[in-house]
Amino acid sequence: MVWLLCTLLLLVSLFLFYASYSIQAGVYLKAICRIKTTQRVVYLTFDDGPHPIQTPKILSILKAYNAKACFFCIGSKVVGNEALLKRIYDEGHLIGNHSFTHSGLFPLYSKSKMNTDLNCCDELLSRVIEKPIYLFRPPFGVTNPTIARIARDRGYQVIGWNIRTLDTQGGDISRILKRIKKRIQPGSVILLHDRLDNSDQILLKTLDFLQEQGYRFDNLPESAFRD
Ligand SMILES: [Zn+2]
Repeated sequence: MVWLLCTLLLLVSLFLFYASYSIQAGVYLKAICRIKTTQRVVYLTFDDGPHPIQTPKILSILKAYNAKACFFCIGSKVVGNEALLKRIYDEGHLIGNHSFTHSGLFPLYSKSKMNTDLNCCDELLSRVIEKPIYLFRPPFGVTNPTIARIARDRGYQVIGWNIRTLDTQGGDISRILKRIKKRIQPGSVILLHDRLDNSDQILLKTLDFLQEQGYRFDNLPESAFRD
């Protein structure tokens, strides 16, 4: 009996862990993790910027490849980098909220603390780009009932991914490309970061590979967003 109870507890814990850490699982909220299409189009997303050195490099590369992307910005990093944020927007990319603090404790925040954090980020972003912010990616892609409720209350369209490149884990770029090659399909949403020392090199290799495969790089279509 004790054995059965322990097994059950373990299974429930594993499920809750999976539910929180897999944005694709959609247990707590429905995020866009891929756009259904047969066209060779992919959607690049960059988290954790803007970064004063890497983000300008990323923007120049994107321009050279005629590629669009969505940048999920951390509010505290926008402070002092407002012109860079404006450049992202002016060059035709999408901008989303990735929280103000990106704290490891964010998923454990109370509803009011979470709202305050997200408000700070929304206000800062929308002041710079002069547009309301409605795209949201939770820090670390972690979801739970509080985050789901707040995302719904605030009218966010939550964006996940179906290709996590694990670019933040270091190692050589070939490992990242291998992950992309294995998982790529039309409409994929790819998670990258524009804060790493080699973010620009990762992007270049990724674009070269995907372009060879006939892919283009578009903005996430508004038609996929809920009203
Ligand atoms: Zn992040």
